[in-house]
Amino acid sequence: MTTTSTKLLKNYINGKWVEAKTDKSQLVPNPATGEALAEVPISTKEDVDEAVASAKIAFKTWSKTPVPKRARILFKYQQLLVEHWNELATLITKENGKSFNEAYGEVQRGIECVEFAAGAPTLMMGRQLPDIATDMESGMYRYPVGVIGGITPFNFPMMVPCWMFPLAIAVGNTFVLKPSERTPILANRLAELFSEAGLPDGVFNIVHGAHDVVNSLLEHKDVPAISFVGSQPVAEYVYKTGASNGKRVQALAGAKNHSIVMPDADLDSAVKEIIAASYGSAGERCMACSVVVAVGKVAEPLLEKLQEKADEIKIGNGLEEGVFLGPVIRQEHKERTANYIESGEQQGAILVRDGRKDAKFTEDGYFIGPTIFDQVNPSMKIWKEEIFAPVLSIVRANTLEEAIEVANESDFGNGACLFTQNGSHVRYFRENIEAGMLGVNIGVPAPMAFFPFSGWKNSFYGDLHANGQDGVEFYTKRKMLTARW
Ligand code: NAD
Repeated sequence: MTTTSTKLLKNYINGKWVEAKTDKSQLVPNPATGEALAEVPISTKEDVDEAVASAKIAFKTWSKTPVPKRARILFKYQQLLVEHWNELATLITKENGKSFNEAYGEVQRGIECVEFAAGAPTLMMGRQLPDIATDMESGMYRYPVGVIGGITPFNFPMMVPCWMFPLAIAVGNTFVLKPSERTPILANRLAELFSEAGLPDGVFNIVHGAHDVVNSLLEHKDVPAISFVGSQPVAEYVYKTGASNGKRVQALAGAKNHSIVMPDADLDSAVKEIIAASYGSAGERCMACSVVVAVGKVAEPLLEKLQEKADEIKIGNGLEEGVFLGPVIRQEHKERTANYIESGEQQGAILVRDGRKDAKFTEDGYFIGPTIFDQVNPSMKIWKEEIFAPVLSIVRANTLEEAIEVANESDFGNGACLFTQNGSHVRYFRENIEAGMLGVNIGVPAPMAFFPFSGWKNSFYGDLHANGQDGVEFYTKRKMLTARW
């Protein structure tokens, strides 16, 4: 990695940029070039304590600030994010590697969360029953929970933090965010713009770092709730540790999403959707399509068309015109992906397209081309584990029932898609597939901000999902009032 002008990032505490109390840091490379963009401090418990203390003090006034006044700051924030759309998307592409178009779309998904959160006055409403008995009434009132800890992954530096802090803050909480140490830069810009929108100091704080920051949040007595998004083992750890410390936790985890293609599907449209879902964001999406289950005679023409379209994909720096497939996040991740490809070959899958053979593979950035395996089965490592890279596995099945059985064998249950023209297939799929976010003739069925992001099985730990009414429930607690007059 070359290090030109590396800037050591600061934490954002109580409305000020403060140096982390640590001498440990990590370089943040641009995955497309290897050039260092910044240095991220690996903060300590002391930094977390300072941020939580500031958030705790801010909570006293912020939680009592009338909700329409809080919402007005969210409206202003939305406006600023829209004004800085290109700048934010460029930052995402630089630190994450995804194409500018993808990054632009990610900014949109982030802005949508802010728009949803700006509806806080309506979202916060309680419920009343005026006559539970003679002269007696009962009502439910909502209140914020306190200081929320948010821990986020590298793959959506804007959208995932925006699943958390805008809504949490709009309903009256204060927030300490620990962004991924692999993509920490954008978060600081999000904080600056929020402050410019009029957010009082201490309401939103950022502590950069890794495990120590996470553990300090999980153990902190003044943090009653944790929102986590990341890989499955860490999600499970965060859920169990947070819950054993008496916190409410929502932990969104890894995935292995299956797309079932029926013989009656519109093949060109299915291929377009699958290519975008498998290779968009270099496969580094929790809603990526990593397995296609081809039913019956569709397998051969589908494979042929997928191969053809994969060959047309332009690989490169996401800021260059026409690039669709950027690098994966780190050199180690590229090597890990190459190891998965080897394991697929060793376990007998047929390597139809080998991303290690694309010219970019040997360049400075962490590039790996679109890869396709055929004849994959559930005993193989490439089927079982989340690779999180542009590697697509094809499993063959004879019937829809058999295809759903294969998908349901997975330990994960984030998303699943069906490509068909037949309504009864759709119904059978909806009723029998064990996944929480379904798509029909659509590749990435990620719900919008006003619906919950509803992973099942090992793709989610907790009860209330991120976003939508679930998010409102997660970030509020209730009081029931029973009164006689
Ligand atoms: P990751 O689990 O490595 O990191 C996520 C966060 O946890 C980071 O902030 C990291 O610093 C922290 N962390 C990592 N290891 C830790 C440990 N041992 N102890 C304490 N904290 C730790 O995940 P990632 O590689 O950044 O992100 C990719 C993963 O996130 C994929 O598995 C993807 O499917 C998942 N993801 C899921 C969703 C969803 O909605 N289900 C959305 C986006 C990403």
